[in-house]
Amino acid sequence: PTFKDLNLHPTLLQSLQELNYTTPTPIQESAIPLLLQGQDVAGQAETGSGKTAAFGLPLLQSINPELQQVQALVIVPTRELAVQVRQELKQYGKQIGQLKISAFYGGHSFSQERASLAHPPQLLVGTPGRLTDHLNRRTLDVSQVKQVVLDEADKLLEMGFEEELDQILNNLPRKRQTILFSATMPDDVKELIANSLKSPQFVKA
Ligand code: AMP
Repeated sequence: PTFKDLNLHPTLLQSLQELNYTTPTPIQESAIPLLLQGQDVAGQAETGSGKTAAFGLPLLQSINPELQQVQALVIVPTRELAVQVRQELKQYGKQIGQLKISAFYGGHSFSQERASLAHPPQLLVGTPGRLTDHLNRRTLDVSQVKQVVLDEADKLLEMGFEEELDQILNNLPRKRQTILFSATMPDDVKELIANSLKSPQFVKA
């Protein structure tokens, strides 16, 4: 199949064409249709599988660029990944006018992040500690979040972010789409899936 067969929006197809992505990777082929249907998805996929586009394209297709509200949250374990995921999502979304994607992470200026929230991004990529900082200081409004991604969930738990993840998830609207990707599926990740996703569909790269 092609990306067009996956019912992606023409603006996204145009970006993919410019990037010379001709065919979806296996994880994209299986995850994108489920995500576009609004289902919760747990994906087992390693870096290099194309997992970022697998969750990123459906996020970009779902957000409303005309609303300046945080509508989708991507939680990642490290600042490097935050920067990288934001960059990749920006490439896929570059045909979408008024789209803002931000990355918030430890080591970045908190006051700069807070100031930037005067014009909230539709899509926010962040590390757990920095996101909970914003929640505790009431600088970040997550009441309009419709989709959340836990990226590299095994690493998030390995790094000890379980409490932060709980806090963030508990602050989000209950009616939402929850998406999780993990390279491995140890018991603690399975537990996180059971506790945080509704009728999850499992996909594997
Ligand atoms: P990821 O697994 O998300 O880290 O992606 C690995 C790399 O593959 C990234 O640099 C993407 O830009 C690239 N990529 C993702 N999907 C495709 C695709 N369908 N065709 C070609 N390259 C892709």
